[in-house]
Amino acid sequence: MRILITGGAGFIGSHLAEAHLDKGDEVTIIDDLSTGSMRNIEHFKDRPGFKYYLDSITNQHLAAELIDLADQIYHLAAAVGVRLIVESPVRTIETNIRGTEIVLHLAAKKRKRVLITSTSEVYGKTVKVPFREDDDLVMGSTDKGRWSYACSKAIDEFLAIAYWKEKKVPTVIARLFNTVGPRQTGQYGMVIPNFVDQALDGRPITIFGDGSQSRCFTHVNDVVGALMGLIAHPDAVGEVYNIGATTEVTIEQLAERIRHLTGSESPIVKIPYDEAYEGGFEDMQRRMPSIEKISRLIGYQPTYTLDQILLSVIQFRRG
Ligand code: UDP
Repeated sequence: MRILITGGAGFIGSHLAEAHLDKGDEVTIIDDLSTGSMRNIEHFKDRPGFKYYLDSITNQHLAAELIDLADQIYHLAAAVGVRLIVESPVRTIETNIRGTEIVLHLAAKKRKRVLITSTSEVYGKTVKVPFREDDDLVMGSTDKGRWSYACSKAIDEFLAIAYWKEKKVPTVIARLFNTVGPRQTGQYGMVIPNFVDQALDGRPITIFGDGSQSRCFTHVNDVVGALMGLIAHPDAVGEVYNIGATTEVTIEQLAERIRHLTGSESPIVKIPYDEAYEGGFEDMQRRMPSIEKISRLIGYQPTYTLDQILLSVIQFRRG
C-alpha cells in the first residue's frame, strides 16, 4: 500500500508514518516544518520505502503528483495548539481551510481514499458529556480567537462530507481528542509536555485557570492504531469518528501527578486565563468523547493508563 501523510513530520504524523513503515507500506510525507520538525523523522528517514518532501501542501504541482501516487491519504497538515491559534489567527484559518480544500480537490480526480483529521475543539462550548459525533456544535463569538480554529476544522469536516456525497470521494473524518506522547512539543501550549518540562527543570508548574477543568488524554500509539483502522474500513466512508480516551483528570490532579512521577519540587501556581492567553479567553470545563461509534466499527479501546502516558513523556523529555 502507498501511503501519503500531509504533516508527516509532526507529532502524530511521524508516529503514523513509522507504524505504516513497520507494516511494510511505502510511506511518503509532505511537511513544511511550520510546526513539524526533522527531529521527529530523523531516526527513520533513511528506511526503505520512505520519502519526505519539505514543502507546503499548497504547492499544488507537488501535491497533485504525490496524491496521484498514493493509495491512501491522511491529511494531518494543520495549524494546531491553542497558543498558536490565539497568536496567529490568520495563519490558522488559512492553513486549515486552504490545505484541506487542495487535498480534497486533488484526491477527487481519482477518488482516492482520504482521512481528514479534525479535533474535539469542534464541539466548542458544549457541556453535555460525553461528546457524541452527532451532537450539536456550540461555538463562541467570532471575536474570540479560539473559535476560529474550531470553525476552520468544522468547515474541513463539511467539505470532506460534501466531497463524499457529491463527488463520491471516499473520505473519513477523525475528531482527535487530547493526544499525547513522545515528540509532542510544548511550544504551542499543550499542557503535558509543558508541565513535564517545568517539573524536570524545577520551574513552577503553571495551571491556567483554577485547575478544576478536566481532560481525557490518549497515548499517540492508541490514536495511530485508530487512524489506521478507520482509513482501511469501508464502512467508515462519509462518517465522523471521535478518537480519544474516557478517563478524566483535572488539570490540578495532572500537575500533582506529574510533580510526583518526576520527583520534582516545583511549586504549582495558578495563572488567570487572561494572563495565560488573552482577555476574554474561554476554556472548556470538561471534554470527554463518546467512543461508542469507533468501538463498534473497529473495536477501538484506548490501552494506555494516564501514568503510562505520563511516564512515556517523562522518559522522552529526559532524553
Ligand atoms: N493548561 C494549563 N497550563 C499550561 C497549558 C495548558 O493549565 O501550561 C490547561 C489549558 O488551559 C486547558 C488544559 O490545560 O484547560 C489543556 O490544554 P491544552 O492546550 O493541552 O489542550 P486543550 O485546551 O486543547 O484541551
